[in-house]
Amino acid sequence: MNLIFYTKKLNPRIEYIVKHLFSKVLAYSIEFTCDYKHFAASDKIRIHYGNSQNAKVKSFIIPLHDFILENDIRPQKINFSSADQLPTLFGIDNTGADLSFDFLSMAFYLLSRYEEYLPFDPDNHGRFTARQSQAFKYGFLEQPLVDQWLMYINGQLVNRFQFTPVKSKAYAFIPTIDIDFGWAYLHKKPWRTFGGAMKDLLKGQFGDFSTRLTVLNKSEPDPYFKFDFLDHLHEKHELKAIYFFLFGAYGTYDKNTAPEHPAMHDLVHRLCAKSQIGIHPSYASNTDANQLEKEIKDLRSISGQPIKTSRQHFLKLSFPDTYQRLLALGINADYTMGYAESLGFRASTSHPFQWYDLENEKETALIVFPFQIMDVTLKNYLGLSPSAALESCQRIIDEVQAVDGTLISIWHNSSFSSLMGWDGWQSMYTSFAAAASEKKA
Ligand SMILES: [Zn+2]
Repeated sequence: MNLIFYTKKLNPRIEYIVKHLFSKVLAYSIEFTCDYKHFAASDKIRIHYGNSQNAKVKSFIIPLHDFILENDIRPQKINFSSADQLPTLFGIDNTGADLSFDFLSMAFYLLSRYEEYLPFDPDNHGRFTARQSQAFKYGFLEQPLVDQWLMYINGQLVNRFQFTPVKSKAYAFIPTIDIDFGWAYLHKKPWRTFGGAMKDLLKGQFGDFSTRLTVLNKSEPDPYFKFDFLDHLHEKHELKAIYFFLFGAYGTYDKNTAPEHPAMHDLVHRLCAKSQIGIHPSYASNTDANQLEKEIKDLRSISGQPIKTSRQHFLKLSFPDTYQRLLALGINADYTMGYAESLGFRASTSHPFQWYDLENEKETALIVFPFQIMDVTLKNYLGLSPSAALESCQRIIDEVQAVDGTLISIWHNSSFSSLMGWDGWQSMYTSFAAAASEKKA
């Protein structure tokens, strides 16, 4: 379908957000114009972006908030309200427009993660927390608000201009697995194996100590090595999983098996034969760019394939540094967009989108794939039982399906073992994967 978009003055923010929403998500072919006469004479579907009261032709009018015209970063008054039972930001009164708020300013603000560029109170790991977001404060963190409004507006366009909408996107589910530790006991340096065994004994964890011995004697599989289980489950539901490898140098938060270990090579080869793989940049790589480059290079040389996909270990993401660093090293897809402490939609969307670099005011080549659900969030941060977690996940699945979005989950291979209190979570994941794979009616 052809759409013509009129506004008095175009800028990179407007072009970016309109192209993303109406062309990439909704599949309209868009013509931008700043010539009202040309707009009025067009026989395309017409969107008028501005505060003009005297729209002379049939068009859908979105009121314009000055925020979209700015080109700097500063605290904003977002003027929260609601309309048609959905929250709104950047409300504008009495414009005679078809909406009571500037939808494009709202979508741009939420997708660009504008609020994360402003001063905030970092958590222990230097991260922006869900609690500080507008989405949390105004209670819309668990809904893909931008997608919901976009569907509403598309419905209005269809009514007004009487056409059959093209179905552009279909619901999809991408399970992803972070491999922080490939093995609980095997393939560690001797001093780590010895230290671990001593720890078990000192803490009185005699069960763990004896499992460790049986695994080390090869009479039982390593409890974290759950890749057969994952292969079978994902194949059963025809899912394409993505595995992210932590290839850090040994440190406080980076305790992976060394990349040069032959077992690690085997694991990389095994997983990239059937699935997509990506780098899981280590904790230390956030302060040492040479380290990140080394990790990407190591994974590339072991796998024999270019590494374009990434997710930050500990979800360490700060704007704009993290994404600028990843882009400079050839990464074009990032899966970090989500919160550790809460479920939901950090950028208020379930559709992948190109990252807009606010510092340089331009769209970049990096595609952000937002996730909504993480194992550690459910069990550790929210303290849910496996069955309560499944209910929470179902709510999120329903939200994503309702907007034909992409559901992305994060699990760790270590969360399928019964160590560290993960008993019962393997079967929870089995049910979750089945529910998330069910095609919507
Ligand atoms: Zn990790």
